Amino acid sequence: MDKGFVYLVGAGPGRADLITVRGAEVLKRADCIIYDKLANPALLKFARADAEIIHVPKRTGGSSVTQEEINKLLLEKASGGRTVVRLKGGDPCIFGRVAEELAVLIEEGIGFEIVPGITAGIAVAAYAGIILTDREYSSQVVFVTGREAQGKRDSNIDWQLLAKFSGTIVFYMGVGSLDYIAERLMENGMRADMPAAVVADATLPTQKVVKAPLDEISEKCKQQGIEPPAIIIIGDAADSSTQLNWFMKKPLFGKNIVVTRDTVGNADFAAKIICRAGNPLKFATIKIKPLTETNEFLRTLAKITGYDWIIFTSGNGVTIFFETLQALGKDARVFGSAKIAAIGSGTAAKLSEFGVKADFIPGVFTSKELGRQLTGYTNLRGKKVLLLRSKIASNELVELLTGAGAVVQDVAVYTAVEEKSECAWLIEEINKGRIDWLTFASPSSVNGFFEQVRSDLVNSANVKVASIGPVTSERLQTLGLRVDVTAADHTLDGLIDAIEQTYK
Ligand code: SAH
Repeated sequence: MDKGFVYLVGAGPGRADLITVRGAEVLKRADCIIYDKLANPALLKFARADAEIIHVPKRTGGSSVTQEEINKLLLEKASGGRTVVRLKGGDPCIFGRVAEELAVLIEEGIGFEIVPGITAGIAVAAYAGIILTDREYSSQVVFVTGREAQGKRDSNIDWQLLAKFSGTIVFYMGVGSLDYIAERLMENGMRADMPAAVVADATLPTQKVVKAPLDEISEKCKQQGIEPPAIIIIGDAADSSTQLNWFMKKPLFGKNIVVTRDTVGNADFAAKIICRAGNPLKFATIKIKPLTETNEFLRTLAKITGYDWIIFTSGNGVTIFFETLQALGKDARVFGSAKIAAIGSGTAAKLSEFGVKADFIPGVFTSKELGRQLTGYTNLRGKKVLLLRSKIASNELVELLTGAGAVVQDVAVYTAVEEKSECAWLIEEINKGRIDWLTFASPSSVNGFFEQVRSDLVNSANVKVASIGPVTSERLQTLGLRVDVTAADHTLDGLIDAIEQTYK
């Protein structure tokens, strides 16, 4: 029987997009993914829909899994010719107990590949602006485990050597024994004012950095409630300029921003917020329901070549339309010579993913401006125009186009239905003033959200409300909400820009 294959993959230090391209590639192929506590679960988005996913948190609480159990699991899952990805935080070969896993694979004759990852020590330095090997003061770096430090008698750590080490010392797993580490180093001759830095949750919006001389670092970490995972950096390099701390200086760093679209839309929006160092909190308010199986839609598709203009007013409309087209074995050639208009740059970008370049995008991304500007751009008299959009869109666009003499067919590609989410946590966070922003990208999200959360709670709490454009803001105002910012550019990026602007 085929023995299967195991990829030991480094997930990177925290932030999901810090995995390597190779790592993401093998995740997409895996039949089974076995992942650690420190591997970001967001990476599972790469998994095939039918992949088996197994979480193996180690060392924490009652539900932890032992190394022996993980070894057994690897063999079991790789049997029958399956491809297994063993996803580990950071790099698999740095304090990752990879040797034990490799030993059982070799013993059983199972093939493997190691995909390196960015280890926490490297990522921490980059994200806290600490240059581990600045040639002015450090020509050497050492990675040390802090776990062995915890009073272990047969420790392999050479404290005498470390105390005299003229370079940068990076301790993993050492927060719990920081007192002990500092004492041992000083006892063996390291100066008490040696710079030290502790970085927790590196690369994430919850990142914390504490800097102090060696003899004060432990106390300062306790005061600031530093908890694992954290890395301790000791040496002159730790005393880096705060100007280098680029990540935590980002305007949205650590801001708690609630995204309120559908599940897929929320994932997309959340990724954009993470890129700006913000902390997205997902709360689905709607579900996008394709209407592409209706007779009306299928009839339209059959004679789609007969139009002069085809208009898309959302990324959702584009995706659902093209996925249906592909399922029917067709592609963009069905448009024939029709010209294509998109409501904005986001919709145009989605079109280009399907190989279609929009012929027209208005200067302002609203339905009203699309109608107004398109009628100014081209003579629509007697022209056949097809709208492929949401069922619940306003009639304004149709009126503007018909007013210009076009023969308009308005076809619903999808609709948004309200979705209930677990909301007790969100209400509690809002009440406690721990949410910075609530964001709304469509009137239907507004409706879905305030079906679940009372508007007076939001108005009276210390939370700001941001809207993607005038139609969404109007809906919010109709419900009695205070709108703190409305994006000037009515795209998700524009919405984040508008929030960011308030911090500048
Ligand atoms: N193989 C991993 C290390 C596993 S040991 C790697 O290469 O990164 C676990 C330790 O890694 C934690 O105790 C902590 O010291 C460090 N660590 C992992 N993720 C971290 C993060 N996001 N921020 C700070 N330290 C982290």
